[in-house]
Amino acid sequence: MTAIPAATPPATPPAARAAARAATRVLVLNSGSSSVKYQLLDMRDSSRLAVGLVERIGEETSRLVHTPLTGDGAEKRERTGPIADHSTALKAVAEELAHDGLGLDSPELAAIGHRVVHGGLRFTEPTVITEEVLAEVERLIPVAPLHNPANVTGIRTARAMRPDLPQVAVFDTAFHTTMPEAAARYAIDVETADTHRIRRYGFHGTSHAYVSRRTAALLGKDPSEVNVIVLHLGNGASASAVAGGRCVDTSMGLTPLEGLVMGTRSGDIDPAVTFHLKRVAGMSVDEIDELLNKKSGLVGLCGDNDMREISRRIEEGDERARLAFDIYIHRLKKYIGAYYAVLGRVDAVVFTAGVGENAAPVREAAVAGLEELGLALDAELNAVRSDEARIISAPYARIAVAVVPTDEELEIAQQTFALVTGASEAGNA
Ligand code: AMP
Repeated sequence: MTAIPAATPPATPPAARAAARAATRVLVLNSGSSSVKYQLLDMRDSSRLAVGLVERIGEETSRLVHTPLTGDGAEKRERTGPIADHSTALKAVAEELAHDGLGLDSPELAAIGHRVVHGGLRFTEPTVITEEVLAEVERLIPVAPLHNPANVTGIRTARAMRPDLPQVAVFDTAFHTTMPEAAARYAIDVETADTHRIRRYGFHGTSHAYVSRRTAALLGKDPSEVNVIVLHLGNGASASAVAGGRCVDTSMGLTPLEGLVMGTRSGDIDPAVTFHLKRVAGMSVDEIDELLNKKSGLVGLCGDNDMREISRRIEEGDERARLAFDIYIHRLKKYIGAYYAVLGRVDAVVFTAGVGENAAPVREAAVAGLEELGLALDAELNAVRSDEARIISAPYARIAVAVVPTDEELEIAQQTFALVTGASEAGNA
């Protein structure tokens, strides 16, 4: 096996660190292939100063929605009309921010933090972006063809606008790099795997890191003292087993396709299904890719990927929606059981992201029948709707069940700020 050397994050020069200490704002950018999501935060109190989204970049019907959150009466603003590329999109974002007195040229801006989906094995920590770092992120494109190119474009654009400003990459895979080989390797020929960098990387790491740490705080413990199963259930969904603050297993693999049933992805499937689709159904590799990533999961099973709509249909007696829900829950339960076995001792099972935070029926069904494992919900607490992190287990249950709203942007901002100011802690979750 070839060991890939760990990254030595380039040090932020002392002068830049001093400047960043005086400045307290961090812009978080999440660049997709046709969208850019952004948030500007003030790290003194982790408050949001502005949030926004540019979507349908490259189309005639591009749209920028910008919401300033400072001052009284600040209102959401919207621009529509063609935005040709990421560079134009970022310029428009900069104009909107400047309009609110929050311009990118402000000395109060300490850094830009970029979400980068795939950091491979090399990037185990947030990393100050240099040309060399960008080149490595580009080298990882074969294992993240859908995500890394857009991330690189976003970074290049932001660097062209503020070449003097420290910019930091925060990797979705980083939290999972602590997985032992036994969990990370596929049982395939080692040489083939290593040559093509095929292994389980895991994704949503920023969320799993934030939520597992926040859960420890909710239990009044240090992350090093607790074992947690995190269920990140959004349109994409993943589970992770976190022992003493370190990820020891996660459900997504080489790509985000593996694991749980998701909004549009199949999750775990016999790999031979793909051979069958090619040989027997005559589908091309691209068609199979699209089938499994975009037309499977809940949408493939019942035509809807929104859990609200599925719940409504179930109440009306819709059989397909019921079956989709049952398959979703069955897979979820399997992962709870599997990660219980991986961890040996579990202190908390925690639900997060759009479905996990909002869908009480999903939480109820996922935990139902697991009393022997020490899991039981308090029905009333489970039914409460809230934006707060909270415990929803029955008082007699041995294992806490919690709902913890995820906040990937805050985590990216904290990691970015900590790196550029030289702080040792990423801040309190
Ligand atoms: P995310 O990817 O974390 O933004 O999650 C998006 C998904 O969360 C949507 O596709 C819905 O299935 C689900 N969701 C959002 N709000 C609710 C809600 N109030 N009840 C049930 N599911 C919800």
